Amino acid sequence: MPEIRILIVEDELLIAKGLSRKLGKLGYQVVNIVSSGESAIASATELKPDLILMDIVIKGDMDGIETAAKINEIFNIPVIFTTAYDDEETLKRAEKTGSYGYVLKPIKDRDLNATIKMALSKHQQQRELQKSLAEIEAINEEKNRYLSIASHDLRTPLTAIQMSTSILQDYEEKLTREKKSQHYSRIKSAVNNMNQLLEDILTLSQVESGKLVLNLVPLEIIQFSRNILDDLTDLTNAKQSFELVSLVDDCTANFDEKLLRYCLINLLSNAIKYSPEGGKIILEIRVQPENIIFYIQDEGIGIPQKDQGKLFQEFQRASNVGNIKGTGLGLSIVKQMIDLHGGKISVESEVGKGTTFIVILPLNL
Ligand code: ATP
Ligand code: MG
Repeated sequence: MPEIRILIVEDELLIAKGLSRKLGKLGYQVVNIVSSGESAIASATELKPDLILMDIVIKGDMDGIETAAKINEIFNIPVIFTTAYDDEETLKRAEKTGSYGYVLKPIKDRDLNATIKMALSKHQQQRELQKSLAEIEAINEEKNRYLSIASHDLRTPLTAIQMSTSILQDYEEKLTREKKSQHYSRIKSAVNNMNQLLEDILTLSQVESGKLVLNLVPLEIIQFSRNILDDLTDLTNAKQSFELVSLVDDCTANFDEKLLRYCLINLLSNAIKYSPEGGKIILEIRVQPENIIFYIQDEGIGIPQKDQGKLFQEFQRASNVGNIKGTGLGLSIVKQMIDLHGGKISVESEVGKGTTFIVILPLNL
């Protein structure tokens, strides 16, 4: 155990020396002896002791209790009072400062040691409590952040749905077939957006709370990837061309199907979203003895060098997105899932030329 460092505040030198000797014998280290409130605060600031033994009656303008209250405001150092008088009044006043106990003079070794031990353990408990409180607060804050983002992002598609349904209802007769179909498409895509966002937030909270466990099943990865590409082309009316590149025709290994689908869909959706019409998107798969590597490559807007490092954090987007919509959640979820799989994700990109995301997953054969 590291040595406990103690500051003594006592204006009678003889008593202070005696106390210091006792503490030394008990195995504590006395870091300083001071005789007034002001010098106690200065010494506490400089030396950051683990504990302060404070005489109640000391030199200067402040007595020991006032000094302890001041120290309490600035630092988190337990204070034990030493006093020759055990009158109710004084002890009550001491208690109000959040005192960690007191010892009566003349001080007995056993009292001293027991009081110090109690004070240190009480202080330790309080620190742990504070730590858990801070953690709970952080979790709460995180939840609030999701809620506010979610409600904000759900409002946009909801407004679109509201507007289109009103128009459809009010102008039922006058709308051309084409116009009607446009409104139906708008509603559908708004519902899709909302679904996607909800799914993202649920998945993220599962990943973060450690509730998402891997469910490994044998999967033939090449056909699996081809299916995802096909689905995505159909679903998004993508204006880009897709290509699957692989030297092997099949490769079966154990993967969590849901996670892998989620990751590939997210990375490919980004490639679609951040690419111009007519761009080419390539999903290349390379199988190595121990790993499988996915390259998701596009000819889109690219990502500025300075933004590349932060994209895997929640709600972070690159500076060049312009008015392309997004929450900045996708990649952070993808990264956490890949971590869970024991894999790695990285990015290579040049603004205006294109982006390649590289995912390396261990092959669990
Ligand atoms: P969503 O949560 O809806 O996916 P998003 O696409 O903005 O929103 P991420 O998928 O996490 O969020 O991506 C984070 C950011 O990384 C994007 O906002 C974008 O700036 C950048 N980015 C990701 N993929 C590409 C890409 N293929 N080309 C260019 N920029 C990209
Ligand atoms: Mg995205």
